[in-house]
Amino acid sequence: MSFLEIEHLEKSFGSVRVVKDFNLPIEKGEFVSLLGPSGCGKTTVLRMVAGFETPSTGSIRIDGRDVVSLRPNQRNIGMVFQSYALFPNLTVAQNVAFGLKVKGVKVADRTARVAEMLRLIGLEGYDDRYPFQLSGGQQQRVALARALAVQPQVLLLDEPLSALDAKIRVSLREEIRDIQRRLAITTIFVTHDQEEALSISDRVVVMNGGVAEQVGQPFEIYNRPSTRFVAEFVGTLNLIEARVLDRDSGRIGIGSREASLGRPLTSDRLTLGIRPEALTLGRAADRDMVLEGRIDDVHFLGSVIRIQATVAGERVMLDTFNRPGTPPPAPGQAAEFSVHPEDLLVLEGERSP
Ligand code: ATP
Repeated sequence: MSFLEIEHLEKSFGSVRVVKDFNLPIEKGEFVSLLGPSGCGKTTVLRMVAGFETPSTGSIRIDGRDVVSLRPNQRNIGMVFQSYALFPNLTVAQNVAFGLKVKGVKVADRTARVAEMLRLIGLEGYDDRYPFQLSGGQQQRVALARALAVQPQVLLLDEPLSALDAKIRVSLREEIRDIQRRLAITTIFVTHDQEEALSISDRVVVMNGGVAEQVGQPFEIYNRPSTRFVAEFVGTLNLIEARVLDRDSGRIGIGSREASLGRPLTSDRLTLGIRPEALTLGRAADRDMVLEGRIDDVHFLGSVIRIQATVAGERVMLDTFNRPGTPPPAPGQAAEFSVHPEDLLVLEGERSP
């Protein structure tokens, strides 16, 4: 049995089912993100684990104990919210000590633990500051320290970075991940930001309409999306229509070119997804499928050159690395593009392998 087991979890508000048969085993020390668009039910799942919402059905077990009937403060969980939710009238040290005080921890132990927590989040010496004297990023670190001070079994993070500006968001997410690893604390992180989820998670759960569409390691989710929704929600995707020429051998045609997907197909038309980095300008390798098109626009971004093109009648985007000795391609010219058949994501009628 996993450390945290969520089984057949459902939640309805009135007649609307917002979480549907949600199953997720999480190992001890694992960092799992719930990723999905607004309203897909991520926060509701998190709130059920925390005990702020009661499931309509299903079970949640932490370390073998069913917690559904327990109140939030009986669950041994730490939580950090999007809005920092610090007590404005308490100092940093008092905020961090809050849960310890509620638990009746002795003053000397409390002081030692607060000092340890402030060291952990890199805010030593900030003990006597009030929240309004801190930046957003610092406030969120204090919120994290407050959540961790009571040594919870599980850490729940509900979009903790979304109120921060882009640069702090990136540095704080690394910091959170680093602290999480050091403490080896089992963590669920809710976000609608796919880059955030991919960059710091052991596993990602992509949610859509209350359902977990795919659960997997970041590279699996990105490279082998199991549904069209996952393929389009995570990362940038070019869509190209293909004709199926032979179902049994998986032979397909795009424009005037043909290729084999090397496996049987079940429909006569397919939508193929191609990641921008899987599409190459020119002919790359022998086994590649070559497509004809034209370069519409070229954006020189420094290390990367982003090309907008039309391939097989579809608008697509591809990225190539800058080579200092080679000028970027000119827009308005006909060109060949190549893609490795294994990099084609089959989205319609077929699931990707
Ligand atoms: P966001 O990223 O916008 O926070 P989310 O994926 O976290 O979205 P939830 O907050 O879990 O989504 O909400 C899922 C659905 O449940 C939404 O349609 C929301 O309106 C609805 N919902 C959430 N809480 C309640 C409630 N207390 N009463 C009625 N409906 C609710």
